[in-house]
Amino acid sequence: RRHTNPDAVAVIGLGRFGSALALELMRNGAEVLGIDDSENTVQELNGQLTTVARADATREEALRQLGVDEFDKVVVGIGTDIQASILVASRLLKFDRPEIWAKAITEPHAEILDQLGVHHVIRPEHDMGVRSAHLIRGRVLDFAQIDEGFAMVRCAVPEQVQQRPLDTLGLHTRYGVSIVAVRRPGEGWVPTELSTVLYEDDQVLVTGPTDKAEAFSNLS
Ligand code: ADP
Repeated sequence: RRHTNPDAVAVIGLGRFGSALALELMRNGAEVLGIDDSENTVQELNGQLTTVARADATREEALRQLGVDEFDKVVVGIGTDIQASILVASRLLKFDRPEIWAKAITEPHAEILDQLGVHHVIRPEHDMGVRSAHLIRGRVLDFAQIDEGFAMVRCAVPEQVQQRPLDTLGLHTRYGVSIVAVRRPGEGWVPTELSTVLYEDDQVLVTGPTDKAEAFSNLS
């Protein structure tokens, strides 16, 4: 069976990380094949993912039988068992098709996955530590590092930029940031326009160099 659905993802290893990821993909309308070698885990998730299969993913034959080689995207959520993680990743890399995402639990683990040629290495503990530092420090309500030194921050609206249209604020020259979206109390997020006026109870998404975006959110 060919997986022509670009929204189909295979998730291997359904521990805390893999199962949270798989369930969130389901909530967002993706088709998810979950694979784990623990019978308990498979039973728990049965019916909650499109397909759940019990298999030892270090066996190339098992991966082929499940059609993992025909997916566009595969996530390896195995962490604690570093040997299994590395073996599964190297099996997957023999398949030309999938883009591979893999979780690393230590720096050396991340280095090896990277050297093998895994396309995206995820370091949840490391990244969550970085993120938490920004949440703890100031008035940042949410923080996403887009790249080294560049971030998107959710924050309240500093007084200096309230009550006037965005294009009169000189945001870029004065603060080095852009405000890309706003959420009014009780409403959803909408992209800002030049004429958008911000008020005290709004929240905004600010993008820019990490230090500038953070400094902006801490203005008052
Ligand atoms: P987490 O910290 O996210 O819970 P773990 O590394 O502890 O991650 O869990 C990984 C999951 O991967 C477990 O559910 C485990 O049963 C599964 N797993 C480990 N080795 C294999 C394997 N060879 N094939 C399939 N699943 C595996």
